[in-house]
Amino acid sequence: MDLKSFISIVPDFPEEGISFKDITTLLQNGDALKYAVDQFAHMAKDLQIDIILGPEARGFIFGTAVAYALGAGFVPLRKAGKLPRETISESYSLEYGKDSLEIHHDAIQKGQRVLIVDDLLATGGTLSTSIKLVEKLQGTVEGVFTLIELMNLNGRENLKGYNVQSLITYP
Ligand code: 5GP
Repeated sequence: MDLKSFISIVPDFPEEGISFKDITTLLQNGDALKYAVDQFAHMAKDLQIDIILGPEARGFIFGTAVAYALGAGFVPLRKAGKLPRETISESYSLEYGKDSLEIHHDAIQKGQRVLIVDDLLATGGTLSTSIKLVEKLQGTVEGVFTLIELMNLNGRENLKGYNVQSLITYP
C-alpha cells in the first residue's frame, strides 16, 4: 500500500514556510491505519518488546495500537505538568525556547525492552529526549519507529546507534 498517498501536505502551517504533514487523512482510512500499525508490529516482532513509549500527542495514537498488536504495555510521555504522579523530566530546545517531556518515575522497570513510536521524525529532538528518559529509568531502547521521516532535517544524526525505522520518507 502507498501510505504516502494518504498524507495531506498543508503549506504554511502552523507558520509560514512550514510544509506540514497532516496524518489525519491516513488515520481516517481504516485500511491505511491498519496497514501502518501492522507494518510497525511486523518490524517489532523479533524485538521482544515489553513497553511501547509514545510521546504526546500523536505518539499516543500509533503507540497504543502497536502496543495492543504486540501485547505490550503502553507508556505516555507528556508535556510538563500533565502527569498526576511523581515524574522525571528532560528538557529540550525548540526552534524558539525550551520545552520538557515527562514520564512517571515508575513507568519502566530496569531492563525492560522499550520501543518508541511517534508520528514524525523531524530534527530528532523529541525522540532523543524520549530515549534519554527511557535510559534514565534503565530501560533499553530496542527501536525508534516513526510513520514519517523528514530526511532533509537529518534527525537520524541525533539518534545514532539506535534502530531507527520509518514507513514514509520525504526528501
Ligand atoms: P522533532 O522533535 O523531530 O523536531 O519534531 C517531531 C515532533 O514534532 C513530532 O512529535 C511531531 O508530532 C511534530 N511535528 C513536526 N512537524 C510535523 C509535521 O509536519 N507533521 C506532523 N504530523 N507532526 C509534526
